Formats: sequence, structure tokens, C-alpha cells
Amino acid sequence: MTTDNDVQVSVLGLGAMGSALAGALVKAGYSTTVWNRTSGKADDLVAQGGRSAATARDAVRAGQLVIACLLDHASVHEVLDPLSGDLAGRTLINVTTTTPEQSRNMAAWAADAGVAYLDGGIMAVPHMIGRPGASVLYSGSADVFQRYTSLLELWGTSTYFGADAGLASLYDLALLAGMYVMFAGFLHGAAMVAPAGVTAGEFAAMAAPWLTAMTGGFEGFAAVIDGGDYTVEGQQSLEFSSLDHLVAATAEQGISTEVVAMVQGLIQRQIDAGHGAEGFARIIESIKQPV
Ligand code: NDP
Repeated sequence: MTTDNDVQVSVLGLGAMGSALAGALVKAGYSTTVWNRTSGKADDLVAQGGRSAATARDAVRAGQLVIACLLDHASVHEVLDPLSGDLAGRTLINVTTTTPEQSRNMAAWAADAGVAYLDGGIMAVPHMIGRPGASVLYSGSADVFQRYTSLLELWGTSTYFGADAGLASLYDLALLAGMYVMFAGFLHGAAMVAPAGVTAGEFAAMAAPWLTAMTGGFEGFAAVIDGGDYTVEGQQSLEFSSLDHLVAATAEQGISTEVVAMVQGLIQRQIDAGHGAEGFARIIESIKQPV
């Protein structure tokens, strides 16, 4: 597959993220047409060299490659369903956040319409686009990913996961799940020390290097899980990590035990099932089996 640096690109959706993506394309010299439901959001991009389309149909017709960065799955259908005939024969890269099933639904819709389809999940906030640290995950058409890799790299590091259009979204949301639970853990710790007069800032200064160091444990947990043997020697046992002290100290501080009780519940289910002497990674078995 050849690469294509002279492609006419259209961006649908000029919210915070769509504007950042379109801005990177305009700055790199791509011929870029933009459209937004509410007018007035294209002015800066036009001043930088982009073109504004009056309607989504005009934008689609102007671009061989169409980027959708709208609010959600429903808004993508709302904008694109009436335009399937115009999109036929073109390429659609949809970086709107959706669930994996919604991504697969969009891929099937695109296949029916004769549209080459790549789904994307953006692991960055708008001001990170085009800067170190930004990452975008893709799945769907391998041909589209290969053809437009140099364009996609303008936004951030691009990773392709395979032909199943739902995979990028699945990774995206799994990574966000890890992030939100970690954030809740940090905030729990901050709430714990607050009654002792410790500011959140003072706690953050201690928590950031600690949690960063603890991510070194992921690889060991992964090796145990992938090896399928939770009895491997050298691990901290579930009984040792029962979190009794942690939950008791939380209650002593007069704050909610919800965050730590959630982890304790996952541990307890494995202890109750007779696996108390096995390693901490075993709580993945509690997570895999909803109660
Ligand atoms: P914004 O809320 O800033 O913008 C939403 C965009 O969607 C606007 O252009 C809005 O148009 C448009 N829109 C909403 N509903 C409709 C509709 N029914 N028909 C047509 N257009 C519609 O969101 P962002 O730009 O921040 O996010 C866009 C996507 O990027 C989302 O899926 C988000 O999850 C994802 N993303 C965003 C990140 C971020 O940090 N911002 C990070 C990672 C992913 P209008 O201006 O007319 O309202």
C-alpha cells in the first residue's frame, strides 16, 4: 500500500479535540476542510489556511479522507447516516470515543456504505495533540492505517491493534479504567490524611513517586496471570494483603471505606474460595466473575 501525503482531508466536529486534530493537519500543510454543527468554530483554522464547509455534506465531498471527531456514537450516526452515498468510495477515520460494540457497529455501517474504515481512540487531551506523550490507538482497516500513518503520526504515537474495529476502543477504555481506579486510590489517600492536617498537595508529592514505583509490579502480576499459576513462590499472599488495617484506619479517620472496601471484597472472594495462600494477582479471577 502506498502512502498518501497529498490527500484532501475533511474534519467533522470542531470541539476541543476536533479543533486540535484539524489544527495539526493545517499546520502540517494538508489541504483541510472543516465543518462544525454550530458555526463560528472554524474561524481560527480558516485564518491558519484551512477551509470551512457550510454543511457536513460539503465537507465530505471535499475530502477523500474524512475524520469524524464528534461527541459520541449517536452524533456520528446523526451526521453520517444521511451522507452514506456521499461517503461511498472515501475513507473514514472515526476518533470519536465509543464502546467496542459501537465501533464494530460503525465498521459494519461503513462496509455496507462502501467506505474504508479505521476506528481510533485518543489517549491525550487536546493540548497534547502533536506533542510528546500523545498517543492514538487504531483498529479496523490495516490498509487505511498504513496509507495514512504519516498523517496520523502528526497527532501522536499511532498504534494499530488489528482488523477488529472494536479493539482500539477496548484498549482505550481498559486503560482509562486503570487510570480512574488509580485516581480514586490517590484521592482516597488524600482524604485519609486530610483530618491530620495534611494538604492534598503534600500528599501528592509523596504519592506520585510511590505510585510510579509501584507500576513496576505490573510485569510480575502479568507473568503470574499469563502463566496461569497463582501459587508461584515469592508473591505476597492474599491473606497477607487482606487490607484489614487499611480499612480500619480509613474508618478511624471518619471517611468512606468504599474505595478500599471494593479491593478488600475482591480479595475476600478468593480467600473464601480457598485461595488465601496464593498471590495478589489472583483477584483478577474475582474481577472476571461478576457476583
Ligand atoms: P466537545 O464537547 O468539545 O465537542 C463535541 C463536538 O461534537 C462539537 O463539535 C459538537 O458540535 C459536536 N456534536 C455534538 N453532538 C452533535 C450532533 N448531534 N451533531 C453534530 N455535531 C455534534 O468534545 P471534544 O472535542 O473534547 O471530544 C470529541 C471526541 O473526542 C469525544 O468523543 C471525546 O470523548 C473524544 N476525546 C476527547 C478528549 C478530550 O480531552 N477532550 C480526550 C480523548 C478523546 P457543536 O459545537 O455544534 O456543539
